[in-house]
Amino acid sequence: MPVSQRLISRLALVFLLAAAGIVQTQAATPPWGHPRGPATESLSQLPHPSRYAGPVQVIFRLPVSRPAVFLTIDDGWYPDPAVPAMMQKYHLPITAFLIEKAAAEHPGYWRQFVRAGGHIEDHTADHPFLTRIPPAAQFREIAGPVDYFSRFGPRPDELRPPYGDYNAAVGTVAQKAGIKYIVLWNAEMSGGRLHTIRNRPLAAGDIVLLHWVPGLSRDLTVLLSILARSHLGVADLTQALAGGPLTVVPAPAPPAAGRTGKKAPGTV
Ligand SMILES: [Zn+2]
Repeated sequence: MPVSQRLISRLALVFLLAAAGIVQTQAATPPWGHPRGPATESLSQLPHPSRYAGPVQVIFRLPVSRPAVFLTIDDGWYPDPAVPAMMQKYHLPITAFLIEKAAAEHPGYWRQFVRAGGHIEDHTADHPFLTRIPPAAQFREIAGPVDYFSRFGPRPDELRPPYGDYNAAVGTVAQKAGIKYIVLWNAEMSGGRLHTIRNRPLAAGDIVLLHWVPGLSRDLTVLLSILARSHLGVADLTQALAGGPLTVVPAPAPPAAGRTGKKAPGTV
């Protein structure tokens, strides 16, 4: 084989190995199928925006006229005591999409979360892939949490399907369970980093995905710093869906450089 061809073959091999490495890294990030994993949804799981959910409206982002984004936190296995304190201090509206089984382990914490201004919405009873189970099981998975979470506050009418997995049949069942909106996301904050589609900056109306995992309060602190630098505030998803005037809470000023751990960000 001529030298040039050998070189091309070698370069192709290096490229393939690098590509395999990238794929492996991405596949290892979301621990699919394990509800107690560090995070069960991610930006890479988003279904195509055109996927139909029957009678239920699907929302990836919610265009708003005010400069604000929406904060949503999934699952609920690791309730972080710092989060309600931050919510109270900064008047942050947050929507928690909770697994009923996870929430039932710490009901006192979730009452505290609601008292701090949080909303609890539906992330199913047991976190299955909804399109892979029969309609009767889908109904139990969606309707059970609607009833259970009604004891904490208003009756949920938003569903975040586990793993972003839904179809028209799921939407039909969800509507029967009282769901009006399937709420997805278009940005993700995890491991201290913000991930957006095509790495574009956050914009008004974006829905940011976080998880109740160890390190959540740090993720939240870093995110608030990014929002403050981007001149974006935080708005209440439930209020926005209701269509009324939107209250926007300014993000607190960024903490001192390099300080992303225990200290809460300073006030504006
Ligand atoms: Zn989840």
